[in-house]
Amino acid sequence: MYEIRTDKVCVGMPNNEEEIRAKKRENQRDRYAALRSDEKDEVRSKKREYQRSHRACLKAEADASKLIAPCEITAQKEEARAKIREYQRERYAAFPNHKKEKFQENNREYQQSHRARLKAETDASKLIASSEITDTRMDDKGNSCKRKPDLASQVDNIGVGKGVYQRDYGAQKKVDKGAFNSGIWEPEDTLHGIEDFKYEYSIESTTRTNGHDPYNFVYVGLPQTYHVLTKVQNYFYCRAKRFEGEGPAFCCRNGRVNIFIPEVPDELRRLFTSQINKDAKYFRRNIR
Ligand SMILES: [Zn+2]
Repeated sequence: MYEIRTDKVCVGMPNNEEEIRAKKRENQRDRYAALRSDEKDEVRSKKREYQRSHRACLKAEADASKLIAPCEITAQKEEARAKIREYQRERYAAFPNHKKEKFQENNREYQQSHRARLKAETDASKLIASSEITDTRMDDKGNSCKRKPDLASQVDNIGVGKGVYQRDYGAQKKVDKGAFNSGIWEPEDTLHGIEDFKYEYSIESTTRTNGHDPYNFVYVGLPQTYHVLTKVQNYFYCRAKRFEGEGPAFCCRNGRVNIFIPEVPDELRRLFTSQINKDAKYFRRNIR
């Protein structure tokens, strides 16, 4: 018989690391237990303060990411970032010296890589700008694009402001830089860059009450499924185009109904179609 043990299943973490952590926790517990009651109080108050500041950070972030007017968003984001920076500064100050050194090293590494990336980007854009411009070339997504001789700039007139759809020009600017800089550039693919546009939507503060959108009711009771008509073959007898569910009585009753189309006399055909004869023109002008 095999004994299946489920109490020591360890996923993704080496056993000894887990053990070390457990030991640390235990040590902390012991140290805390050995403290005098006034010291205990101090530890608790410190912990509370930390948790409060942490929650404040989280809340500020959440508030900033909610859909509010763009200017408010940036202001709130800035505030939240300032709070986070302050919090990080405090935490850094509380680090022991060896940790501080390691932190600084990490920071230096990040800044180096960041600078390298920025430099590579500017180099790449310079390269594009200096390359030869032809009438048809590929853009950065591999679509071929034509440049038109000269037309007024095709800048969109979409309204910008509160409660209006806003268009993100970032993508357009990226394309316009360099190769497509002079003259008007028009994509052959009419959907070019559509996916790059970001629509920002905000609710006027007057219509918003406690974060509740009073116009949400328009989404209530929408059907979950939809019906698509299946394609039906043309009818066997008369070749009529039909919709799904149309019976034989709809057109010719299984070929029993035939419409007699008489042969048009030549004289009448001439009157209806002639572009030269005066009498035909007169006829067409005056028939009722
Ligand atoms: Zn028919």
